Amino acid sequence: MAEPLLKEETGIYKKKYPYYIENPVVENRVAQFLEAFAAVLNYTDYKPLLDSYCITNTKCNRCAVACPVYVTTQDSRDIPCYKTNLLLEIYKRYFTFGGWFRSRFLTKSFELTEEIIDEMLDLFYRCTACRRCTNECPLGVDHGLITRLGRYILSLIGIVPKALQVSVREQLEGKTHNTSQVPKNALLNTLEFLAEEIEETLGIKVEFPCDKVNREYVFFCAVSDYLLEPDTLMGNAAVLYAAGDWDKWTIGSCNYDGINYGLFYSDWHLENIIKQLVDEVERLNGKNILIGECGHASRSAHDFVPVFGGKKTYPVMNFMEYTLDCLRKGKIKLNPDIITQKVTYHDPCNIARSGWIVNQPREILKSFVKNFVEMEPNGQYNYCCGGGGGLVSIDEIHEFRMEVGGYVKAKQIEQTGAEIIVSPCANCKKQLRELVEYYNLPCKVVGLHDLILEAIEIPGGKTSEERKKMKEEMEIM
Ligand code: SF4
Ligand code: SF4
Repeated sequence: MAEPLLKEETGIYKKKYPYYIENPVVENRVAQFLEAFAAVLNYTDYKPLLDSYCITNTKCNRCAVACPVYVTTQDSRDIPCYKTNLLLEIYKRYFTFGGWFRSRFLTKSFELTEEIIDEMLDLFYRCTACRRCTNECPLGVDHGLITRLGRYILSLIGIVPKALQVSVREQLEGKTHNTSQVPKNALLNTLEFLAEEIEETLGIKVEFPCDKVNREYVFFCAVSDYLLEPDTLMGNAAVLYAAGDWDKWTIGSCNYDGINYGLFYSDWHLENIIKQLVDEVERLNGKNILIGECGHASRSAHDFVPVFGGKKTYPVMNFMEYTLDCLRKGKIKLNPDIITQKVTYHDPCNIARSGWIVNQPREILKSFVKNFVEMEPNGQYNYCCGGGGGLVSIDEIHEFRMEVGGYVKAKQIEQTGAEIIVSPCANCKKQLRELVEYYNLPCKVVGLHDLILEAIEIPGGKTSEERKKMKEEMEIM
C-alpha cells in the first residue's frame, strides 16, 4: 500500500479545501453568523446542551487519539475538542452573561472574525461526524453533534458544500423528489431490468411491487442503489421471495429515496425529508418502514420518524434485521459452501456507533461465510470509512478523503488480508471502493445482500450450487 504523503512535504493536511458553494453570504458574515446562531438558539433546544458543554469540557484531549483524522495528521487543529471549542467560544462570548461581562470589562476577550468563519468551514467539514471521539470523552461531549450544529448555522448563511445543498434541494423541491434525480419511469425501467436479471440468475419470475397499498413493508433504499447496486437490491428481493413475503412489501413511486442529508447539516431539512418519507408510507397505508442497506438512511428514519413523523408513527427496520429474523425463523437458507473467500465487515458509523446494528450482520455472515475475519477495532469502536457525514459526496475533497479521512481505514483493511469487504451502506461502499482503488488493495467491496444473493436457496429456482457453477463458467468465458 502506498504510504500517505508527509504533511511537511505537501502541506496536504493543513490545506484548506476550496468547497464549491452556491451563493454564499460574502458581506457582514460575522453579523449574519451571529444572527443565525441566535435564531437557532431561539427556535431549538441546543442551549442547555451548549451550557452543559461549556462547563464539562475540560480540554484534557483524551478524545484526540480516537479521531482518525487527528491520528493521521497529528495537527492540533484536528483534535476534536479544538473544533468544538470554536463554537463554544462563540456561544460563551455572544450568548452568555459571562461572555458579555468579559467583553465589556476586560481588555482581552474573544471576538468572532471572518477568519474564524473560514476556519469553521474547514474544520467542520474535515470531521466526518463519526462520533468515535465521544467513546473516549469521560464527560460525554458529542463532537459529532457540535459539528452538525456548526454546519447548520453556517448553512443558514449559505455556507454549505454545493453537493449537499443540491441533494436536499432536489429531494424537497425537485421534480423527482430524490437526490439522484431518478424519474419515475427510470425507476420502473430499473425494476423491470432487475426482474429480468432475477429470472436469469435465480430462475424465478417476479414482478417488483410498486404502489401496492396496505402492505406490511414500504421499502426505501439510497436511491443511488437503483443505479449502482443491482446485486444488493436483487439480494433484498431474493430474501423477500425465499421467505414467502413477496406479497408483503412495496416500493412507492412518489418517494423511493431513503437518503437524508439533513442529518449531516440541517435540522430543517432533516425534518422535512422525514415528513416526505412518512407521507409516502401514509399514502400507501403501509405498516412498517423497511430501509435498505444504507447507514444514515436507517439512522435518520429510525431516530427521527418518531420525532417528526406526525401522530401515527411507523416502526422502522433495517433490511438486515428483517433478514436475520427470517434466518432465525428458518424462513431462508444460506449455503455455507458458496462463499469461500476471506471476508471482513465494515461497520457503518451511523448504524453501529450511533445506532443499534452491530451483531445482526455478523450473525448473518457467520451463518454462511466460513472464512470471516474482523477488523480491529470493530463494532462501536470501528473507524469511519472517511466519507461519513456527507463527505463522500463532496468531490472536491477526494484527496482529503483518501489521504486523511480514510487512511486509518485503508490500513485496517490491509491488515485483515480480506478479499471481500462487506459494508451495508451506499455511502461507505462508495468511499471504500475509492480507497481500495487509491491504495491498490487486493479486495472488492460489496453489500451484505450481494453475498446473500449468491448463497441463498430459492424455492423453485436454481440452487446456489448451480448458480455458482454458472458464474464460474461465465468467468472462464
Ligand atoms: S475527552 Fe472530552 S473533556 Fe477531554 S478534551 Fe475531549 S471532549 Fe474535552
Ligand atoms: S466525530 Fe469522528 S472525525 Fe469528528 S472529531 Fe470525532 S472522531 Fe474525529
